[in-house]
This record gives sequence, C-alpha cells and structure tokens, in this order.
Amino acid sequence: MTKFQSLGLEQPLLQAITDLGFETPSEVQEKTIPILLAHETDMVSLAQTGTGKTAAFGFPMLQKIDIESRTTQGLILSPTRELCLQITSELKLYGKYLPGLNVVAVYGGASITEQAKQIKKGAQIIVATPGRMKDMIGRRMLDISKIEYCVLDEADEMLNMGFYEDITDILSHTPEDKCTWLFSATMPKEVAAIAQKFMDQPQEVTIGAKNVGADSVSHEYYLVNAKDRYQALKRLADMHPDIFSVVFCRTKRDTQKVAEMLIEDGYNAAALHGDLSQNQRDLVMKSFRTRQIQMLVATDVAARGIDVDDITHVINYQLPDEIETYTHRSGRTGRAGKTGVSMVIISKSEQRKIKAIEKIIQKSFIQKEVPSGMEICEKQLFHLANSIKDTEVNHDIDPYLPKIHEVLEDFSKEELIKKVFSVEFTRFYNYYKKAKDLNVGGGNHPEDREPAKVTEDSTRYFINLGRKDGLQWMDLKDLIREVTELPKDDVFHVDTMDTFSFFNTDSKYVDLVIEAFKGVQFNDRRVEIEISKDRGGRKFGGGGRGKDKGRKKGGFGKKGGFPDDRPKFKGKSRRKEEWPKEKGTGGKRRRKR
Ligand code: AMP
Repeated sequence: MTKFQSLGLEQPLLQAITDLGFETPSEVQEKTIPILLAHETDMVSLAQTGTGKTAAFGFPMLQKIDIESRTTQGLILSPTRELCLQITSELKLYGKYLPGLNVVAVYGGASITEQAKQIKKGAQIIVATPGRMKDMIGRRMLDISKIEYCVLDEADEMLNMGFYEDITDILSHTPEDKCTWLFSATMPKEVAAIAQKFMDQPQEVTIGAKNVGADSVSHEYYLVNAKDRYQALKRLADMHPDIFSVVFCRTKRDTQKVAEMLIEDGYNAAALHGDLSQNQRDLVMKSFRTRQIQMLVATDVAARGIDVDDITHVINYQLPDEIETYTHRSGRTGRAGKTGVSMVIISKSEQRKIKAIEKIIQKSFIQKEVPSGMEICEKQLFHLANSIKDTEVNHDIDPYLPKIHEVLEDFSKEELIKKVFSVEFTRFYNYYKKAKDLNVGGGNHPEDREPAKVTEDSTRYFINLGRKDGLQWMDLKDLIREVTELPKDDVFHVDTMDTFSFFNTDSKYVDLVIEAFKGVQFNDRRVEIEISKDRGGRKFGGGGRGKDKGRKKGGFGKKGGFPDDRPKFKGKSRRKEEWPKEKGTGGKRRRKR
C-alpha cells in the first residue's frame, strides 16, 4: 500500500498521482486529506504556497463530488488569475481518470460569455477569482446554491487585496450547510474573523509552526544606503551568475523603473505589474518560465500565483508595506523540494523591520556584506572557467576551425587561456575596479557622517504641506526623505506650520530635491516646493509668513479633510542618482543574441 493509498484515496486518483510522479504525500496532504475524506467538516489550514496544498484540498474534493451529476458542487476562490488557472490545470491533472469531470476557471480579463458557456455545459467545480465570480452571480450566469465544498485559497492574500466584501457576497449565495476549507499562509486577525464568521467548529491543521516560512528558504539582508540600492541589486545579481529570481518592488512605478534599468544594463530582466495588459503579462511569464528572463521584477499583487518551482533567489529590493507579505514573497523560492534564498536590501532606517519579520517567520536573518567588485570579478572568472569546462562542443564550428587555428597559431595554451579569460575579466574589472564598498559603515557614506549642520552651504525650502495635512515635523521629515531618499541627517530643521512648512538640506542637494518633488502629489494635491530666502537654523520667523499669505491667495492649504490614516504621496519622482545609467556593467554579457 502506498502512502497515498493509506490516506484513503481511490484508484482513479491514485493512478493520476502515479502519473504525476508524486511519491509521498507532503505534510499538508498527509494531515488534511484523511480528515477531509472522512468527515463533512470545515477546516482551517495554515500552509505556505509550494507545500502541495492544491492537492490537499483538490483530491478530497474530487473524490467527494458526484461526477455523474452536472451540478456545481465545488467552488474554489483564489486571489489571482494566475493562481486560478494554476489550480484549474492541477485539478484537471488530478482528475484525469474521472470521465465527465468539468473544472472551469472564472477570472477577469477574459471573455465572460465564454466562461458562462463552459459552466452551462455542467461544471462540477468552479475555480474563481472573487471579482469575476461576483460579477457572474450578479448576471445570473451561474448557480452556486448547491455548493457542497467551498475552498478559500490564500485567504490572507484575498483579504490583503481587498476582496472581503466580494467573498462575503459570494458566500451569501451558497448553502449554509456546505463545508468550507480555508487555506492561508498567515493568520492575521482578518482571516481569523472570516473563519469565525463563516465556519462551524473548523478543524485546524498547521503545517510547521504558525506563520513560519518554508524551511528550505534562508533569509539574508544587506545594509546599504538608500541611494545605493540599485547598485547593490546589480552586485547581488553579478555575484550569482546563474540567478533565476523574482525582484520585489513596492510600487508599479518602481517595478517598471528597476526593470528598465536592469535591461539597459544588459540583464535579462522584465517587469510584471498591474499596468501591463493580460497579454503582456502572459508573455512575460512565458519568457520567465523558459528562462529567457533571469530577473523578474514584480509587484506583490502581480507576483501572486507565480507557479515557477526553480526560483533560486527572491530579492526584496524594497520591503513590503505589510510585513506579513514578506512570507508570500519568500515563499516564491525554496519550492518543490529545492532550497532558495530570500535577500533583503535595506537601509538603516528599515533595520527594525527585519526584527519584526523574524518574529513572523520565526527564523533569523543573516546579515551579509554586499560583495566587493573584486569578489564579483573572481566569481565571474570561475563561473566562466566552469562553463567552458561543461560546454558541449558544437561541431558546426568544425569547418571554421582550420582558419581559427591559423589566426591563433602563434599562441601557446597558456597565452590563449589568458586571452580568453581577459575578454570577460576585463569587462568586469573595468566596471568594478573603482567600485566603492556599498555596505553601510564600509566607506565614505553620508549616513556615517556627523549630522548636517545649518551652515552657509545649507538651503532652506518652503513646502506647501503642514499640520493641517496631518503632518507633524517628524512625519514631514519622513515624507521628504521618502521622496528624496536623502539620509536622515541630511534633511534638517523641519518646521511645520498649519498649511506649509520649511526644511533644510545641504545646498549640494538643491537640484536633487527640486527634481525629486516634480509631479509629486499629496492626497491628490500637487506638492509645491521652493527655495526660501530664510536659511533656517532657528524656529520659524517672519521669512515664511509672507509665503503663507501668497500661498493662501493661490488657494493652497484650503483643501478640507485630513488624510486617512497614512499620508499618501503620488507620482513620486525619484532622484536621478537612484537610477544611475552606468554603461559597461557586468551584466552586459547576459544579453541574448
Ligand atoms: P502547491 O503548493 O499546490 O502550489 O504545489 C506546489 C507544487 O508541488 C506543484 O507543482 C505540485 O504539482 C507539486 N506537488 C504537490 N504535491 C506533491 C507531492 N506529494 N509530491 C511531489 N510534488 C507535489
């Protein structure tokens, strides 16, 4: 008797399992399948992505539904289109020996009438994203009043994405006595509330410790100055020549920008975010799966449901706003029995977040040094040596060999090796020979300096944001630093008034500050910034009052309403230094012909 047989699964499913090559059940399968098969029960299961949870709910559902009937008996809600499609195709594989099985995926961005047509044929199981599902219920395109089993997959993520209302609405169209199986990587209070509201004495299954990240993933962080973030990213990539990674950014804008910079610097990179059309996203994912893309730069939402098993590294270019999201990011690597590394590039001010994440994942981070230029050169050299060693000879070059021999006949083997390696080495060497130490404390960094003082060389700015915008001086300082990415001591003497404020920076940053604020909005109001004649260095005096009058005439500071809980900047324009356009970087070699 195989391990799967002992879970209580029947022959058609066991046959499919054999075909799939699954030898032993994963932990979540071992724990949930027997319970779900033997009992009509609700269940809450805490399991990461990549642990085999689709099969954990998929097999019991397939075994329990009546395939002879055309009634929709199973509903699976998942956060994204990608995940929805992935679950659908897995279920079809699991149910390949169940003749008449019809599993239909329902998701946005594709023809709703086509999906309705598929359901009309008689779908025993519907796998859906909440938005499209609600839409179809509203249009009476499907009937879920006879659902017996309902799965809420990646419940935490669905709630993160704001699907609470949709889920509640959908569930109100399902029978009270159905079984609900909730799967979630984390158990924030919102998920616990859903479980409480919609479930009846659910059985609890926890894989590993609660909220623990997969064991196969190690966690590292690199402490750099904010302005060196991009350079650090390139070094991490150059240090891992075979990297196959997802690079996470916080916003669509940063995602696009980082991907563009990487492409310009010769890396095989692409962006994945919500501003791309479905077709573009499909193309990017196809190139990623086939490894034409080595670095997929993605937002959290777009990366959900990426079902690629071999990702070697997850790079947190920026940490997520919600630290719980980190678990989802790092869960993209270390899947299907492989190991992976989750790297975080942070600046000093974010260091405390590492502690908070460690609490959630119940694992420690290792602080690592951003590699030096010479370490990278050495790594690349040996990588080249090994690639040459492992390269299979292409005999199509045979006819050209005599001529090539002629060209190179004067060189000994030693000389040839030196030349071949110099081709690659020189490129890296030239790029990295003057490269500075990017580690905080490792060199001449602004953050390591004495705090900036008000001097002849400092400039005072006027900004049309103040206390009426809900900003105390510390908040404003944080926001200015967020936009300009200046180290904390380089923004100083922040004085907030009701409708405007002043602050200072070193004069050398004037262009950077003005440029960074171009196009920036705060709670839908354009942020105005000007150089003030008052140099500051004391509490606000008369210098700015005139400004205030002028501004008020212009209508600034009159917008009613305070911000919600958090101030919002829109259209943040990054300073140029963050996206340095350096040519001839180590990445060049990666350009595919
Ligand atoms: P999931 O967590 O459902 O996204 O599954 C992650 C991957 O593991 C999928 O590619 C599954 O096909 C695969 N998988 C699921 N169960 C097993 C198993 N028992 N043995 C080997 N691979 C599995």
